[in-house]
Amino acid sequence: MNYYSLNHKAPNSSFKNAVIKGLAPDKGLYFPENITPLPKSFFDNIDNLPYSEIAFETIKQFVSPEIPDDVLKTIVEETLSFDFPVAKLSDNISTLELFHGPTMAFKDVGARFMARCLGYFNQNNDKEVTVLVATSGDTGGAVANGFLGVKGVNVVILYPSGKVSDIQEKQLTTLGQNIKALEVNGTFDDCQAMVKTAFLDESLTSKMQLTSANSINVARWLPQLFYFIFAYKQLHKQHKDIVFSVPSGNFGNICAGMMAQQLGLPINHFVASNNVNNVVTRYLVSQLYEPKPSIQTISNAMDVGAPSNFIRIQEIYRNNFETLKNNVSSYSFTDDETKEAMLEIYNSYDYVADPHGAVGYLGCKEYLKENPNAHCVFLETAHPTKFLDVVEEVINEKQPLPEQIQSVMGKDKEAFVISTYEDLKGFLLRS
Ligand SMILES: *Cc1c(COP(=O)(O)O)cnc(C)c1O
Repeated sequence: MNYYSLNHKAPNSSFKNAVIKGLAPDKGLYFPENITPLPKSFFDNIDNLPYSEIAFETIKQFVSPEIPDDVLKTIVEETLSFDFPVAKLSDNISTLELFHGPTMAFKDVGARFMARCLGYFNQNNDKEVTVLVATSGDTGGAVANGFLGVKGVNVVILYPSGKVSDIQEKQLTTLGQNIKALEVNGTFDDCQAMVKTAFLDESLTSKMQLTSANSINVARWLPQLFYFIFAYKQLHKQHKDIVFSVPSGNFGNICAGMMAQQLGLPINHFVASNNVNNVVTRYLVSQLYEPKPSIQTISNAMDVGAPSNFIRIQEIYRNNFETLKNNVSSYSFTDDETKEAMLEIYNSYDYVADPHGAVGYLGCKEYLKENPNAHCVFLETAHPTKFLDVVEEVINEKQPLPEQIQSVMGKDKEAFVISTYEDLKGFLLRS
């Protein structure tokens, strides 16, 4: 598959080049040249297909022929070595649990898939690739874990000092090997600005191959389309009108769901659920796209002022506002509303949601007011114990720590403290 840049000022790219480079030379996001829907029989027959086969068949067109079928089969099997269960809360609301992977956030799937693609492309290459990422929390751990031990790939993660949860910090600072953590005296925006500066710094990029591992990268973004098909497989017999409510930050996850829809998944509508960082909610009302600096909330993985994948969503719906509006609703919720929702989910359904999932739940409730016959699935994007402080405070009950979390808690943190871009550059050139 070839990819074009959404800035339209760069040559088309192979999948391999798009994975290694991350962003096109004109700074545009890559988008696949063609999307060929799967035959209707594929979805009719979905009950008989194992998850790994569903994944293989749906991702194949985007990576073929650069990754041969037998290699791709292994990659998806290794990527999907855990479950994606749907838990039913009521007749109208279910949740798709995306937190059963090694770092207990949905980003595990994209990170593991991308790591394996990059590892394959790099296997006969002496030139090392450095994956450089800024994280506000979950990306760092998922990327660190996904890329651990991948030959020819170094990973450098920047995180804002004191602004990620203890568990998140442990997940990205305790692995060692090819994973290096940089603790930045600053905010997430400072981390992201440093990473951007590095990608544009020719005195650096002429000496080393840098790539990104956030949802800008097609290999991180596209495999997220599996989730929506996996949920459909579990629900389609009981429910005809399935709607997904996706707690959104950079809009990579929801945009992958829209790709599943383009592949023929019979779903009609998405709900983009936001915290108060609500540029898309406002856009759907005013048709004006007005990014703002991000505001810190308890659902911090969604504290994004200018979602990077919004441009891909516009491409999917051909830049047609009406089509977009017919396919997507968007609502935004405050931290107080989110906490109330966490309590309500706990009291009414005996289910513990994390703050991101709770925002998704609120999106479902809002949508169901106008569409009472739909079945709304909110994506539970992280395990509640990743946000232990707020979860225990809200439901007023101690939570047992799952094994994945316990295993990192006792390990020693290793991070190098930096304050400026020059510190980062010096670190990269030395390592
Ligand atoms: C990253 C993340 C999100 C937002 O996903 P996007 O693809 O950036 O919209 C939501 N919830 C959690 C827990 C996350 O880690």
